[in-house]
Amino acid sequence: NNKPLSRANSTAQPPNGLDAVNVQVILRCRPPSKEEVAARTPQVVRCDEAMKAVTLTQSVPGASKQQTTRTYHFDKVFPSDTTQERLYSSAVSSIVEEVLEGFNCTIFAYGQTGTGKTHTMTGDIADELSAGAGVIPRAIHQIFGYLDGIASEYSVKCSYLELYNEEITDLLTIGADVPKVRIMEDRSGVVLAGIEESIVKSSKEIFALLEQGSSKRRTAETLLNKQSSRSHSVFIVTVSVREVTPEGDEVIRVGKLYLVDLAGSENITRSGAVEQRAKEAGNINKSLLTLGRVITALVEGQGHVPYRDSKLTRLLRDSLGGKTKTCIIATIAPTVQCQEETLSTLDYAHRAKNIKNKPEVNAKISKTTHLKEMNFEIEKLKQMLIA
Ligand code: ADP
Ligand code: MG
Repeated sequence: NNKPLSRANSTAQPPNGLDAVNVQVILRCRPPSKEEVAARTPQVVRCDEAMKAVTLTQSVPGASKQQTTRTYHFDKVFPSDTTQERLYSSAVSSIVEEVLEGFNCTIFAYGQTGTGKTHTMTGDIADELSAGAGVIPRAIHQIFGYLDGIASEYSVKCSYLELYNEEITDLLTIGADVPKVRIMEDRSGVVLAGIEESIVKSSKEIFALLEQGSSKRRTAETLLNKQSSRSHSVFIVTVSVREVTPEGDEVIRVGKLYLVDLAGSENITRSGAVEQRAKEAGNINKSLLTLGRVITALVEGQGHVPYRDSKLTRLLRDSLGGKTKTCIIATIAPTVQCQEETLSTLDYAHRAKNIKNKPEVNAKISKTTHLKEMNFEIEKLKQMLIA
């Protein structure tokens, strides 16, 4: 059941026939909290999963009987009763299959603080999946479930980063004397210098790292008194699989999965800029702002795309308009207090649907005939050395 994403995405065919696919945008609405239920807070969001539509109903200020309604369509819409398991199986597991085929894939969670980004991306962490487990633990399970069942050789590496105030922290290194992480680029794409890449042999090991990284994040937060709502976290899993074809050729496929929990989108206007009052208060999240500008540039077909203006967009450059398959999970709250932010998120996410990427498989094929020739050559040289 390995189906290319491009087939499912029939509207994404560009006129030149290149296999471009749109960024997939899915929407998830969280349930009202206990407090919101107790306070009988009015709910203004209605999700229609079958129609892939979400409707926001707002009353007009000063005219209590008048209402405005807006409906948005996304690639998938998940109402507040959607379980973690269902969100994963219906929107994420096919993306992870593509990582195993050698594609690079990115999943972003975007939304206002308190709408469920971390719940969706991480949720409960435990080696045994619980009902509360989010996208990251489920993806780890799927990856190892697949790898354990194949005869080929493989390796899995993971890294875990946090980006705060344009500084990158490696959440997997322990100790005080930690090298600074730098983003560099080479022909193959983005390279992170000074980062810990742990080789993991089992899902148990990767869960230990995930837990360790998450607790480092919490500790750093308490020490610096900073809010998690202002930082971005990026969990990266790299899977390499070596296969030998029936003809005896060696194929190495490398897929990377980026799982991104973005900073809270409050203060970002409906057009993706930063609100004036947030600017005045010095509350500018450069990376989130640049992400908005990059999306605008891509959607409007501007010649210059400002990837280089922030760490986040440099790091994830390939996920936006590049060779990566990208999915954005936009999260919203159902209540009236959040309606303005909800409208911003819906507009922002809806615009991002127009970004096109051109995914490519990362595979290296070595012909055995070639290998045989090289071995022959090596043997010849050895003989010469001995002689
Ligand atoms: P964010 O990371 O966007 O700031 P959180 O993931 O921390 O938001 O969610 C805020 C609160 O709402 C948490 O207590 C979380 O458990 C709860 N929550 C969020 N989404 C859901 C959901 N889909 N179902 C149940 N509870 C949720
Ligand atoms: Mg969070």
